[in-house]
Amino acid sequence: MASLPQAGVRRGRFITLEGIDGAGKSTHLGFIRDWLRAHDIDAVFTREPGGTPLGEKIRELFLAADTRVSLEAETLLAFAARQQHIAEVIEPALAAGRYLVSDRFTDSTYAFQGGGRGVDPARIAALEAWVQRGLQPDLTLLFDLPLEVAAGRMAGSRTLDRFEQEAADFHQRVRAAYLERAAGHPRFVVLDASRSIAEIQVDIAAQLQRLLERA
Ligand code: ADP
Ligand code: MG
Repeated sequence: MASLPQAGVRRGRFITLEGIDGAGKSTHLGFIRDWLRAHDIDAVFTREPGGTPLGEKIRELFLAADTRVSLEAETLLAFAARQQHIAEVIEPALAAGRYLVSDRFTDSTYAFQGGGRGVDPARIAALEAWVQRGLQPDLTLLFDLPLEVAAGRMAGSRTLDRFEQEAADFHQRVRAAYLERAAGHPRFVVLDASRSIAEIQVDIAAQLQRLLERA
């Protein structure tokens, strides 16, 4: 599955964006795109579930409000889409020396299916080991904010998907699971997303600069 390293090409960097719905991931993706372009860095932008033709079909089922799915099947769908995404998009981009920025990745499965639904994290870890074979992001930006602030920002924006329709205590567990993961993995940077967009982007730029300078 993993692409062979290309001679003379330094492997690219893998950046993931995480957070509850309404945290600002899509908003800041545009800023990251502009920042990388200004620094002449070739980057691929993608999302989960999705990022491939198969993955986008899975995404539709995954998010549709009328999908009836067990928590185990939901978890497996996330990893089915992820395996295809890694094989078809992520690994080839990194092997070619490109940066790859994904709006959500495996931390979302730990947060939503693990924290939110109660799937045993050991089961998620087993699927992670099988599907990712050691692949991990180099940097994970966690946009953290109180649920009420996120909900207020999303109010009236569009029809809510299957996860957005969940009750407040679900989103509270998702947020807590994210913070717990962040505490255990140094690749995470937790950003206070309740601040203004401009303030948050000062921090994002500093993190991108650090990643760029990292040996
Ligand atoms: P996500 O992709 O994480 O679900 P979005 O980027 O779509 O979140 O942001 C949700 C809404 O909140 C959008 O309307 C966006 O313009 C707004 N928003 C995002 N970040 C901020 C911020 N720091 N301050 C005020 N509004 C924001
Ligand atoms: Mg978004």
